[in-house]
Amino acid sequence: MSATDLLRQSAAELGEAVSTGETTAVEAATAYLDRIAEVEGDVHAYLHLDRETALAQARGVDERIAAGEELGPLAGVPVAHKDVFTTVDMPTTAGSRILADWQSPYDATVTVRLRQAGMVILGKTNMDEFAMGSSTENSAFGATRNPWDLDRIPGGSSGGSSAAVAAYEAPLATGTDTGGSIRQPAAVCGLVGAKPTYGGSSRYGLIAFASSLDTPGPIARNVLDAALLHEAFSGHDPRDSTSVDAPVPPVVEAARRADVAGLRVGVVRELGGEGYQPGVQQRFQESVELLESLGAKVVEVSCPSFDAALAAYYLIAPSECSSNLARFDAMRYGLRVGDDGSRGAEEVMSLTRAEGFGPEVKRRIILGTYALSSGYYDAYYGSAQQVRTLVKRDFDAAFENVDVLVSPTTPTTAFAIGERTGDPMAMYLADLCTIPTNLAGNAALSVPCGLAPEDGLPVGLQIMAPALADDYIGLKAQGRL
Ligand code: GLN
Repeated sequence: MSATDLLRQSAAELGEAVSTGETTAVEAATAYLDRIAEVEGDVHAYLHLDRETALAQARGVDERIAAGEELGPLAGVPVAHKDVFTTVDMPTTAGSRILADWQSPYDATVTVRLRQAGMVILGKTNMDEFAMGSSTENSAFGATRNPWDLDRIPGGSSGGSSAAVAAYEAPLATGTDTGGSIRQPAAVCGLVGAKPTYGGSSRYGLIAFASSLDTPGPIARNVLDAALLHEAFSGHDPRDSTSVDAPVPPVVEAARRADVAGLRVGVVRELGGEGYQPGVQQRFQESVELLESLGAKVVEVSCPSFDAALAAYYLIAPSECSSNLARFDAMRYGLRVGDDGSRGAEEVMSLTRAEGFGPEVKRRIILGTYALSSGYYDAYYGSAQQVRTLVKRDFDAAFENVDVLVSPTTPTTAFAIGERTGDPMAMYLADLCTIPTNLAGNAALSVPCGLAPEDGLPVGLQIMAPALADDYIGLKAQGRL
């Protein structure tokens, strides 16, 4: 098979071709590494690339296949891995200077499962520092560009992953979604991104941002590929205390079946209308009509508390991050500044954190510390938790009458690099539609639904399902939209 043919195959096809001996893991990895060498200068999707480590993994996979080992449908398929998952053979930075060149002594569970599945990790992808952001501009190591238009953002925080898949620098990528960081980058890069049910994929070895929200998930070019990756790394993990001890919903089977006839679809009134880009609204409307023409029953649904979800998220997520990031104290991990024998530990900690964290991370640590401080706790963190409960209740009430809820994934298409860096509120609004799902712990998926007429850029359709109904989304959405 030619290199171009290899790159054009879906992950499912590529896995099949490796299993039948039509190609090898080494050939597939080589094609992708060559493609990376060609376009990476423009895109900057990766933070760490090491051709030899990738090829050594590929040779190992080919040997395991030759020895008759049963590796599953993605054996030999390359994958781009978000730099928030620990890896023993590559650095892990979470996009932060405070972890520059840090080498983990252990693999994250997601990493372990990619390796067990015989997947070849091409490199680690760029991201907003500690996954805080919607554009990948908060990376300490420079921005990633959107392959559809190099002057625009690829979304964030998993923007390196989405750009890598969109630029054919990987057939698949991992991401994490705390408030939208898989679905939003997938949407603005014309890809499929799934946020599994909270606890459906392991957080062990995932550098924590907001532990009650963080969820690893797949980014791919079609629903079946996303489902295959989802299945490959998800499932119960005794090392994560919030891991769901239940079988992975049959997402692959659902993706292969694809049927929307009789599906009850709720259009969320609060997620649309004023403030949404006209072309986004138009493509969303057409998707809803398409669903209807395929036999789905569409009704409008109101979820009034969703209007307060963004505000609640920006108290809960910073509160959790202020606690999680306390571990970066210059004593145990990564960077240490000013340790010249003349200063005490506290001063070294302070100098290190001042230099090691970027402005957005500092903003959130300050905000979170404030929201959790005595005297303010009830007013801020406590109220936000109450809103969280209301959001969950709105979902539960809606799912009594409909099977899934739909909305645009993002209010606008990819914005220009630099456009929102000076305006944190504008940046936060990119996750307006995705955040409610995280607060409720439910499952959601973004699928491409065309290009906005005014700028020719991809639009995403978000499909939200109840917790542990990840397969329901795939079952109904694949192949029809
Ligand atoms: N953009 C949101 C934030 O900045 C969500 C990030 C994420 O899902 N990791 O917090």
